[in-house]
Amino acid sequence: MSRYEHTETALIHGGISTDERTGAVNVPIYQTSTYQQDGLGKMRGYEYSRTGNPTREALEKLIAELEGGYAGFAFGSGMAAITAVLSLLQSGDRVLISSNVYGGTFRVLDKVFDHFGITYTIADTADLAKYESQITDDAKAVIIESPANPLMTVTDIAAVAEISHRHGLLVIVDNTFMTPYLQKPLALGADIVVHSATKYLGGHSDVVAGLAVVNSEELAQKLAFIQNSTGGVLGPFDSFLLIRGIKTLAVRMDRHVENAQKAAEYLKQHPAVKTVYYPGLPDAQGYAINRKQAKNGGVMISFELHEGYDINRFFESLQLIMLAESLGGVESLVCHPATMTHASIPAEIRKKVGITDGLIRLSTGIENIADILADLEQAIGKAAPNV
Ligand SMILES: *Cc1c(COP(=O)(O)O)cnc(C)c1O
Repeated sequence: MSRYEHTETALIHGGISTDERTGAVNVPIYQTSTYQQDGLGKMRGYEYSRTGNPTREALEKLIAELEGGYAGFAFGSGMAAITAVLSLLQSGDRVLISSNVYGGTFRVLDKVFDHFGITYTIADTADLAKYESQITDDAKAVIIESPANPLMTVTDIAAVAEISHRHGLLVIVDNTFMTPYLQKPLALGADIVVHSATKYLGGHSDVVAGLAVVNSEELAQKLAFIQNSTGGVLGPFDSFLLIRGIKTLAVRMDRHVENAQKAAEYLKQHPAVKTVYYPGLPDAQGYAINRKQAKNGGVMISFELHEGYDINRFFESLQLIMLAESLGGVESLVCHPATMTHASIPAEIRKKVGITDGLIRLSTGIENIADILADLEQAIGKAAPNV
């Protein structure tokens, strides 16, 4: 639990926020691999930087406090964090994944963990009765994203946690899209939260990092052992960059969300736009559930242009908004899920879950909203069918 009542304050002062020895207001970058010992077995708290590093530790304590968890762990990427968490499972175990999970999460289960006898089922966590019917005896964990990429599907985290716990499943929530500023899955009943901190937590598209937070001492011990054994840790400099990014999370997110809401409303009324997926629109799937479990609709929007619009021309015509993988930075980015973020999901599964070839995903940045909308407007105009 945080010592601070308000998340805005915990973002800046949480974890270990200053240097005890010198009074420096920022935790220094302890760029060291090892630590002098005062005698055999006489360590000063650290022995080797895979096992523990003060800069990384400051970040780990910070994310644990922000998510309201027992302990936090920092990894070299979001996928390293997810891989470490999945390493809690054993051969013969099955993982349920919500149907729109991040492509990399699907891929690591489909192509790596299958080597070790861990299987998966694509489950409909947005439909509670259907979800419960998909839980088999070998199911040991569920991975949820809400809103889930790229259709912004909302899952009732508290309800899925309750059903899953009745069947003895570990509940893992990928909170990358919302961050603890907008949504706190552990308070809703999850056991573990994972993040691609590459996105909003870092916030400046300059670091690749992953975080995991667990809600019990038992899970903390197991994950610490896995982190140290498999070694996918975050380096001291990147840990520093993340702490720096997290300090401004609240102000960035406020502007991101304000811009996203306006961009979604603009797209919604645009005659060229067929569908808009954004949990902040009152007629969106899961709007009421999202309102209950999160502060607002978040930042990510997906939309489809009407038949006949040339999406390639749309992407090529953008002047401000960049075509790139990733999301969550201060700059606006668009991507084409079918060929980029979700390309590792087979075409027939993509089609089944609604990731069409015409789908465009927008990560609304914190530029002036008028400039973002003007860029969308001119690019949509250039993509219009010739009449
Ligand atoms: C990007 C992303 C990941 C993977 O994180 P990396 O830092 O790229 O390894 C996992 N989950 C979600 C929701 C993501 O957006």
